[in-house]
Amino acid sequence: MRRKTVTKEKKVKNKKTNHKYIFVVGGVMSGVGKGIATSSLGTLLQAKGYKVNLVKADPYLNVDAGTMNPTEHGEVFVLNSGLETDQDMGNYERFLNRDLKHEDYITSGMVYKYVIDKERNLGFGGRCVEAVPHIRDEIVSRYENAAKLNKSEISIIEIGGTVGDYQNIMFIEAARVLKIKHPEDIIFVMVSYLPIPNKIGEMKTRPTQNAVNQLAGYGVHTDIIIARSEVLVDQKRKEKIGIACNISTENVISAPDIDSVYDVPLNFEKDKIGNIILKSLKLEKRKGPGLGAWKKFAQAVKNTEKEVNIAIVGKYFSTGDFVLTDAYVSVLEAIKYSAYSQKVKPKIHTVNANDFEKENADYSVLDKFDGIVVPGGFGEKGIEGKLNVIRYARENKIPYFGLCYGMQLMTIEYARNVLGLDGAHTAEINPKAPHVIIDIMPDQKQKLLDKNYGGSMRLGTYKANLLKGSIAESAYGTSTILERHRHRYEVNPKYIKEISDAGLVFSGTSPDGTLMEIAELPVTEHPFFLGTQFHPEFLARPLSPHPLFTQFIKAAKNKGLK
Ligand code: GLN
Repeated sequence: MRRKTVTKEKKVKNKKTNHKYIFVVGGVMSGVGKGIATSSLGTLLQAKGYKVNLVKADPYLNVDAGTMNPTEHGEVFVLNSGLETDQDMGNYERFLNRDLKHEDYITSGMVYKYVIDKERNLGFGGRCVEAVPHIRDEIVSRYENAAKLNKSEISIIEIGGTVGDYQNIMFIEAARVLKIKHPEDIIFVMVSYLPIPNKIGEMKTRPTQNAVNQLAGYGVHTDIIIARSEVLVDQKRKEKIGIACNISTENVISAPDIDSVYDVPLNFEKDKIGNIILKSLKLEKRKGPGLGAWKKFAQAVKNTEKEVNIAIVGKYFSTGDFVLTDAYVSVLEAIKYSAYSQKVKPKIHTVNANDFEKENADYSVLDKFDGIVVPGGFGEKGIEGKLNVIRYARENKIPYFGLCYGMQLMTIEYARNVLGLDGAHTAEINPKAPHVIIDIMPDQKQKLLDKNYGGSMRLGTYKANLLKGSIAESAYGTSTILERHRHRYEVNPKYIKEISDAGLVFSGTSPDGTLMEIAELPVTEHPFFLGTQFHPEFLARPLSPHPLFTQFIKAAKNKGLK
């Protein structure tokens, strides 16, 4: 009798909970931090001991983000699989401190392409193919598939755009239908905006009420509102929103503007959003790892005093600082994490490469920088200016870090100015140059001839071996690495010996030794002159800064001390 009870209790305790979904939608207007809110929910639920995966459902018809211009759409982020995605995926990985899967990214283009290709292959057995049910059901199966592949307990799915857009309606409709299947396991969080019009001077809730009503019109009830505003949302307005939107006051979370995005998870917790979500999803409280490490990092961001001055030399600055932060977001983040880990505050300067193309350019302005970064890029614009800046950094021993294009250009600079190979260039700009130092990979040639640009690059994670005793090997503390790539061109094998003999060390190579992945000058020559063919910035995370960025910052900090 007794034994039976014990078994029964045990059974109840081990009862497997269903997979849970949180859909995050935007209300009122875009650009109010839905991506950071989604990432922060991930951080919080993970801290509470749950295995979480984050999904971005992007409404655009591009199959992936690879062909989009960073000036318009921001940085193209790359996953391990090689999928080119929206920059939100970068925030997700950084806030979760883990890699995401190919299946965690869904675009309308991907879904439509799949369904239309299937139709062309007679995959629908002669039936009429329509947005509803075929597109919708394909989205439902992608939501479920991402959850299954991640073996997670909670999927947080951000639906791009704002409620009321035509473009994202299928994603919302798919979420609605999924909820019919799992009524207890799905909640909807709306990240909305509460304006305080200047002349009125009062926070207005009406636009948010309208957004909630519009979502209700699609058959979807809002469970939690994250109320973004310039200031805290007071109790009176929380009550007003709660009554108008049919939710309890505690489910209205105040999310005022703050200086540091890393404080967002901590701020959300002030209104206990984590526990509210667990309660809404009928999940028990667990003793998770907590937010200790995150808090420590967020604190370091504010407490650091001493500055390092880092210049980013690029060409995507044309519409001011806003574009810069968007086009190079992972690079900026990577610099920050390593700087904070070295207890210095990064002061990042944007330098226009074009300024160094003129005959009488003033290079001495570069002396005030403790480190210079040439990030990834494409095309001819600003390239000679970048080459001039790299030369100055090499000759004047200013720490230099070249990312992808920045590594290719540092190799060309070395060939031109140290080896004396006049006209050394990349095939991307001048395939007929006397010395094509950076060349196209043979298997990519045909794709370019066919104008097949989408996905025609070396994309995603590749292994590299590191040279014993190199700066790279000592920074990583290991002899093999995995890093993410996004480029078409490589160091031309014909020049490797000549360049190495002249002193530039290829300290990282593909396992078969044919592709040059890292180039560096020995520390005896230069405090830090290193470039990577891959993009280390994609793997830099607040709680695990990237070792090469950290090494670069250490060198920059050293220069600053002098
Ligand atoms: N344009 C160069 C290439 O395609 C570098 C690309 C990059 O910096 N991401 O190889």
